[in-house]
Amino acid sequence: MRQLFTWCCLLTVGISAATAFGPDRALAQSVDNGLEERSVSSFEFDPTAGVVRVAIDLELSNITTDEVSDAGIRRTFFDGYSIPVPLGAENLLATSDGVVLAGVLASDPEFPAFSAYRVAFDAPLFSGESATVRVTYDHLGAPPRTAVPWRVNAAYAAFLAFGVGDDGLITLRISQPFGYEFDESTDLSGFTAGEPDALGTVVYTRSGVNDDVQVIVGMANDDRLVPQQLEVGGADIELRSWPGDAEWADFAAARVESGIPALADLLGVDWPVEGRFAVRQTVEPNLEGYAGWFDARSNEIAVGEGLDADTIYHELSHAWINRALSSERWLTEGLAQVYAAELVRRDGGVPRAPSEPNPTGIGAGPLTEWTGIGSERAVEEFGYAASFWAVDVLVDEIGFERIREVIATLRDDVSAYDPARPAERPDEDWKRAYDVLVEVGGSTAAGGVFRRLVVGTDDATQIDRRDRAVADLASLTQRSEPWSLPVGLLQRQERWEFDDVIEAVQGADDVLRRRTELMAIESVVGIDEPDRAGEAYVAAPMRDGGSVDFSEVTAVLDDAIDRGERLAELQRRITERAEAANVVPPEVATLAGVIDFTTASQAADVQLSAIERLVEVDARLDDATGLLDTIGRWGSDIEAEIDDARGDIERGDNDEALATLENAAARLDDAGTTGALRLAVAVGLILALIVLLAVTRRRRTSPFAP
Ligand SMILES: [Zn+2]
Repeated sequence: MRQLFTWCCLLTVGISAATAFGPDRALAQSVDNGLEERSVSSFEFDPTAGVVRVAIDLELSNITTDEVSDAGIRRTFFDGYSIPVPLGAENLLATSDGVVLAGVLASDPEFPAFSAYRVAFDAPLFSGESATVRVTYDHLGAPPRTAVPWRVNAAYAAFLAFGVGDDGLITLRISQPFGYEFDESTDLSGFTAGEPDALGTVVYTRSGVNDDVQVIVGMANDDRLVPQQLEVGGADIELRSWPGDAEWADFAAARVESGIPALADLLGVDWPVEGRFAVRQTVEPNLEGYAGWFDARSNEIAVGEGLDADTIYHELSHAWINRALSSERWLTEGLAQVYAAELVRRDGGVPRAPSEPNPTGIGAGPLTEWTGIGSERAVEEFGYAASFWAVDVLVDEIGFERIREVIATLRDDVSAYDPARPAERPDEDWKRAYDVLVEVGGSTAAGGVFRRLVVGTDDATQIDRRDRAVADLASLTQRSEPWSLPVGLLQRQERWEFDDVIEAVQGADDVLRRRTELMAIESVVGIDEPDRAGEAYVAAPMRDGGSVDFSEVTAVLDDAIDRGERLAELQRRITERAEAANVVPPEVATLAGVIDFTTASQAADVQLSAIERLVEVDARLDDATGLLDTIGRWGSDIEAEIDDARGDIERGDNDEALATLENAAARLDDAGTTGALRLAVAVGLILALIVLLAVTRRRRTSPFAP
């Protein structure tokens, strides 16, 4: 729906009140004119004949009082009566008690919709006299594509039902033939429906109405439309046109056949409607002040009779661009119009050009408040014009390629801040439109357009806050690198909950300070913790009470910091003890199996144990200087073993070092015992030797010796 269809329904009701007699002329009156006018107006659609038969039964009474004065009698009389008849009225006939009355049709070129049919009475109607007059005519409607909107054909009748006469004395009767439905805009409130007659015709009657009551009647029997199947790019389209208007049918078919593939190409999505789709010719939208409309429920577009490519393209584009995209009417209407203009341009036609609207002019208001279809005409005019201009500025800036991405993001309910995630914002409102245009479309003009046309002053402040928050997020993005921003923070931003965003940025900075602390520890210990904190940072969710929950990433970092500090302490002690052990151990990071603080601490524990053991065994070796220890150590090279252990430690083989030192320590433990044993054995041996020598000597000196 978009532009207004201008049509005139001004009634030129004329009451003729002639005065005479006496020296003074009485003036005609338009109100309280002294004529009581009572009427019944019947509108009977005869589809077979293609006419609406209209009958107006009038009861007219002169209720003036003759004035008697010295100058004479002043009498007010009526010599005729005028009724408005619509363009397309034929076979006009006025009768009174069976006598045909003379009538003259007076037209005003400025108001072609109606003419005045002036009926002359046979005799003047004087005070107290009454007359009944019947006026009938056939309403043939006006030809398609003429300014006057009445249309009558076998499939469709559109006309104005109205009465003439005094307020409260008018009755309207509207007949509905079998098989015809009133369109949605036909307002029959106050009417009562009679019983169907033998042909199924129902008469709707309303009495006691005033002469300003006018009912726009539209009734259609779509079975009487001329159907034409179109096969266009996977779309199953039925074109349904009025009988006798092949010119429109040919024009509309060509536009549908070229428009659907062109729109699918521009939008990057095939025709999105499943099943049969109708393009129906009707003036129904025109009567409501629109050029056409798209009805998603009944899978059709209703477009006017005009040979108007722009309207057909506009309505076709609503198959893609509708409320599923955004609840912002200005956005869907503006997009539809921009695409319509682009298709007209591609056809080689002259597209409609937007003009800059005056945001303080008649009907103006923030576009986001332009919601209901059927608003005041000035509001609708401003809404369509301003939407077209606003969206045209944006498309001019970022181009159709990026607008396609914008539309895809809106359509697929994807977050404007993270294409990998579903949208968080529950409403498809102007805030989401702004986010997507700026974040996905890359528009810088959106801020100005929104502030000037889309939102009011209060909401413009929200845009300022939103833009500041985005700048804060950009800065936090840099500080967070290589981590991405926390999802909960992006979701708060997407919800435009800026106090929560500010709090969450502070929370994120707390986390980043911990990360800096951890990195300092990593630098000191020479080992990097695997980035478990990064995952937890990115996954930080929204907290129930508001803002963002960083507890998990904080716990991960605090745990790593604790373990890192313990590792650093181990390394400090290793350095200290290594000096005492006269050993140069390798960096813990180079030890086998070290991949993080935990494995490094385990390895450092072993390394420290080996070094401390080395110190201990070395010291004990130094202490083992007694006689027995010295004797016990004869033949065993514990010094060499300790040197081996030192070598093991320097190669990073701390387990081997410990085993070697264990061995050395055991030898040291045994050195005293071994020394004592050795000494005892030696003493025993010496004693035995002495005994042996003594025996030998005695034998040598024996007399018995040979
Ligand atoms: Zn529209």
